[in-house]
Amino acid sequence: MTQANHQIPVAKPILDEREVEAVRRVVHSGWVTQGPEVAAFEREFAELVEAPHACAVSNCTTALHLALKVAGVGPGDEVVTVSHSFIATANAIRYCGALPVFVDIEPDGYNIDPDLIETALTARTKAILCVHQLGMPCDLKRIVEIGKRYAIPVIEDAACATGSEILWNGRWEKIGRPHGDIACFSFHPRKVVTTGDGGMLTTANPEYDRKFRLWRQHGMDVTDTVRHGSKQVMFETYPELGYNYRMTDMQAAVGREQLKRLPEIIARRRQLAGMYTRHLQGFMDMPAEPDWARSNWQSYCVRLPDGLDQRAAMQALLDRGISTRRGVMNIHLESAYASPDCCRAASTLERSCAAQNQAIILPLFAQMTDAELMTVVEALRDVAGLAEVRHARAG
Ligand SMILES: *Cc1c(COP(=O)(O)O)cnc(C)c1O
Repeated sequence: MTQANHQIPVAKPILDEREVEAVRRVVHSGWVTQGPEVAAFEREFAELVEAPHACAVSNCTTALHLALKVAGVGPGDEVVTVSHSFIATANAIRYCGALPVFVDIEPDGYNIDPDLIETALTARTKAILCVHQLGMPCDLKRIVEIGKRYAIPVIEDAACATGSEILWNGRWEKIGRPHGDIACFSFHPRKVVTTGDGGMLTTANPEYDRKFRLWRQHGMDVTDTVRHGSKQVMFETYPELGYNYRMTDMQAAVGREQLKRLPEIIARRRQLAGMYTRHLQGFMDMPAEPDWARSNWQSYCVRLPDGLDQRAAMQALLDRGISTRRGVMNIHLESAYASPDCCRAASTLERSCAAQNQAIILPLFAQMTDAELMTVVEALRDVAGLAEVRHARAG
């Protein structure tokens, strides 16, 4: 096999006969939408993250919408968050008719800078929406403290953080317990475990959980499974405006298989990330875990050295059969956010912008071999070396 036709993808889900078998079981059962598999997936996810309640929904964007809504976010309100995130983070705030208020990220890393949160708060702030970007836990301890001090709920966008951990009162805990008021997860194929599309809300608040279950199913007060199993004729009512944000039993069955694989997936991802960190020492700016965080390494994102153009570097890697992605986007730079009534910046967003222009995401997936990782390392060394030569000649 030549290098040119052996492409190394940036990410790849693990799916095999186990998931196929799970879907087959559901299809043959005749019950394919939200039902017993969804309920089982919720129990198993709750157990994994030690959450009192877990409610499955159609994706993380709908989870964020319901989380903000239950926190009372509505028209005219503000939610403090980052621009440096996937656009869904801020879109969910706008679905509530509220204004995303952006602050910058930390000097190193890609998470919200807790030092900037307090200056962004106003009388209209209804929630803080923090993101565990690329699977790396953000500084929840400080963010939750600020939330408590101002009596503002903290919602965690944990889309990428299934299986990530944080040191909490001396004990390692999974993201999603939750440590804020609500955590929202994604099971899109680009995350560490997938259901095709899918999401989960975890909370310790039973009233929030009750609302999620009502709203995800059109605001209907009886579930399909209860009505179906009832020996008495039942007429449902619709006490509140709801949505169709359901997960199907086919998706949940896949999710249950994926959760069984999670420990193995994370162990391998952590091993690969450790190898990148060792081998890239000295010529890339690598992501680092604070001593209170364990990332699931949903993505391994490096900052290119000065003088190495992002697009040129990515192209040079692609020419060597290695697929990469640009680092995290900045929401405020998109046309959908161009109008001043769409969002407000409460700090400069300089670090967010620098990260977007300098960072690239390297291939990382559980099936990746050590040899594939070394191919990426060698190619990066090569590409960085070429840039140094050009730099020296130009200078
Ligand atoms: C992927 C992602 C989302 C959206 O998740 P979906 O399940 O695709 O709706 C939201 N926020 C962040 C930070 C993400 O990475």
